Amino acid sequence: MELPLDINGVKGFLDPEEGKALYEYCLVAAEVGPCLEVGSYCGKSTVYLGEACRSASVTLFAVDHHRGSEEHQPGEEYHDQALFDDSAGLMDSFREFRATMRQADLEEVVVPIVAPSLVAAQDWRTPLGMVFIDGGHSLEAAMIDYRSWASHIVPGGVLAIHDIFPDPADGGQAPYEIFKLALSSGLFEEVERVKTLGLLRRI
Ligand code: SAH
Ligand code: MG
Repeated sequence: MELPLDINGVKGFLDPEEGKALYEYCLVAAEVGPCLEVGSYCGKSTVYLGEACRSASVTLFAVDHHRGSEEHQPGEEYHDQALFDDSAGLMDSFREFRATMRQADLEEVVVPIVAPSLVAAQDWRTPLGMVFIDGGHSLEAAMIDYRSWASHIVPGGVLAIHDIFPDPADGGQAPYEIFKLALSSGLFEEVERVKTLGLLRRI
């Protein structure tokens, strides 16, 4: 895997090993359909997935309202003042995201959808080869993401979920809850776990 830019220079929350796994699974999944991620932030995961989609000549849809999750808001643990739009009084990671896509030469591969996950999903009809869920971490947000997007994955396709913490002492449980839901639905089987990244295949 060769990335078109220095990935360490991209702000974000993805371990390089997790990124590599995203790239490798996406490379195969993109053969069965276009791919989609929920939660792009400044585009770190988008670069890995986008590179794989470029190779397979499919589109990567990148859904994010770019207003930040709970933990990105002013005063919270992962707030980044540089991503705050003072005139709007809101977070705005879209400008940085666009810069990353331009740097990575991914503007012809990645289609940004700047909207809440639920709104983006409302009229979605396109079957997907891979869905990567890395959006809001409240149980409500994670459930919306799972219910909205997992049903569009074609057989043989991949569902990837970030921030899986089986031990509650290590982190929030919402991503793990939807991971377990996917398994118990009987529609998915676990194929690999890379750090906090859960990878499932649509049966
Ligand atoms: N994948 C990124 C990190 C994503 S952080 C990386 O590799 O670095 C989580 C992102 O989810 C934030 O940018 C936030 O704006 C977005 N988000 C949270 N809730 C959302 C929702 N309901 N709809 C769309 N985007 C959401
Ligand atoms: Mg994450």
